[in-house]
Amino acid sequence: MKKSPQLERLEQTLRSSRLSARGFLGDDKRSLYEILDADASVVASLGYTMKQIAARMQEITDAARKGLGDWVDVDKNLLAWASDARGIIACPWPHAFRADKTVITVERTDSGKSIQWADLNVHLIAEHGFFQGKGSAFRLEPRDLVEIIF
Ligand SMILES: [Zn+2]
Repeated sequence: MKKSPQLERLEQTLRSSRLSARGFLGDDKRSLYEILDADASVVASLGYTMKQIAARMQEITDAARKGLGDWVDVDKNLLAWASDARGIIACPWPHAFRADKTVITVERTDSGKSIQWADLNVHLIAEHGFFQGKGSAFRLEPRDLVEIIF
């Protein structure tokens, strides 16, 4: 990815605390470019694409929503539930995308490992390859995410 003035501006937006509790970058000292690049490398090394990861997250999200607040068996080793959080949040990238603030909690019954994401995470990964900065409330470690959802 080419480093551009647009990317610099976006980085400033993402660091701002107005958008979410601790911003989208948390206390990550790396540049947005470095964060995107490092996570893209991890995802590639795991043998997945951003679209595959996001599609699986969407599948789990849709299944969890059907539980209306109760745990749902997504498949043999995977449970998920959707919180009833109210409100919407806008994608920080300069385009008109808004997501519900619903939070999905996913747990593997074989390893006991769990992970949480918000609707916006699915969009950020699918469209922007963005897992957020370390220390941000909804940072997802690609390695942990892949291990749990696949
Ligand atoms: Zn977006």
